[in-house]
Amino acid sequence: MNPDLIIRNATLPDGRTGQDIAVSDGKIAEIRPAIEEKGAREIEVLGQLVSPPFVDVHFHMDATLSLGIPRLNRSGTLLEGIALWGELKPILTAEAVVERALRYCDLAVSRGLLAIRSHVDVCDDRLTGVEALLEVKKRVAPYLDLQLVAFPQDGFYRSPTAEKNLIRALDMGVDVVGGIPHFERTMADGAASVRALCEIAEKRGLLVDMHCDETDDPMSRHIETLAYETQRLGLQGRVTGSHLTSMHSMDNYYVSKLLPLIAEAGVHAVANPLINIQIQGRHDTYPKRRGMTRVPELRAHGVNVAFGHDCVMDPWYSLGSGDMLDVAHMAIHVAQMTSREAMKFCFDAVTASSAKIMGLEGYGLEPGCNADMVVLQATDPIEAIRLKANRLFVIRRGKVIAETPAVETRLTLDGRPGLVNGAAYGPMEAN
Ligand SMILES: [Zn+2]
Repeated sequence: MNPDLIIRNATLPDGRTGQDIAVSDGKIAEIRPAIEEKGAREIEVLGQLVSPPFVDVHFHMDATLSLGIPRLNRSGTLLEGIALWGELKPILTAEAVVERALRYCDLAVSRGLLAIRSHVDVCDDRLTGVEALLEVKKRVAPYLDLQLVAFPQDGFYRSPTAEKNLIRALDMGVDVVGGIPHFERTMADGAASVRALCEIAEKRGLLVDMHCDETDDPMSRHIETLAYETQRLGLQGRVTGSHLTSMHSMDNYYVSKLLPLIAEAGVHAVANPLINIQIQGRHDTYPKRRGMTRVPELRAHGVNVAFGHDCVMDPWYSLGSGDMLDVAHMAIHVAQMTSREAMKFCFDAVTASSAKIMGLEGYGLEPGCNADMVVLQATDPIEAIRLKANRLFVIRRGKVIAETPAVETRLTLDGRPGLVNGAAYGPMEAN
């Protein structure tokens, strides 16, 4: 039987060129040059990059697209953002959250973003966000994998009903246990919350993903407790520390002891470059800290590092467009990861490394994997980031679910070419 789809002449993220990708029954059947069979549908991609879909491993879908309701964040700080979200929460309706989330998912699909881990605030006795996002998860399942984290935004201990509501959310079907130890009232409460939340995850067989040390305070060391509890409870590979921005400001000697602990515990690290560069250092004059966690150092110690978008048009961030290449682009700048090899790592951080954290089954470009792909108007991963490349085709289980025409600009200059294609400006000898 002929394949349902053949993509012709693809470049893959690992650098292989001239590859044909055959798809049958929603799975990748074969990848090699010059497949002889004919597909029911064929797409000639002329040497452009074909990647597995983008994955956003850290997002807040209950708040997205709420910018300006009920007002804007004037100081730009995390704390005003949390206060503003506290004003919005009581007036949220499930219908409005569902509608905004579905609209965001439309945008995500158009950007080739087909898997999202979203935190959902459980500090609302009505659990409006939880109810809404569980509904959204069901509705988008045919085209987007949505994983939910029970996130006690106002503090697991600080908010009187957070513990009860977090358990309710997990009982309703939320997938992952969240936390926010740096927002508890004391360091001791923060550490106790990490311990209690890891124990809940261990008992229920769930993953953990905490907002951890999202502060410029170098004494915020909850990541240490998170790594310790991960080892104590045997949760290696199932726990993620999100943000870890205090590490930016920590004493170097302490970090030299901390990094091997994180690596040994198999804790994943997630940086959120767009948000970190925008939120951290707000209490500084000059010099102003960048605030993002130590990505190259974590990586050098063998820690799996991924990047999240975190926010799009919400109380914390008024920009963002669902574009994970925008996230990778910012990461390269903030972490000064400018070698070609480091830039490729940043592409993985918004694709394969994030998929590993979410535990996505069948992810990747190998025979037997789900036929989920993005065709980019770029010739390699670095070019894709440089250009924040156009997504020509987005494919889910072998079907094209989004399509954008190639971008070219018509020029009317005497003696110059009539068309400019930004994607044709890649380096001739890059390696
Ligand atoms: Zn977050």
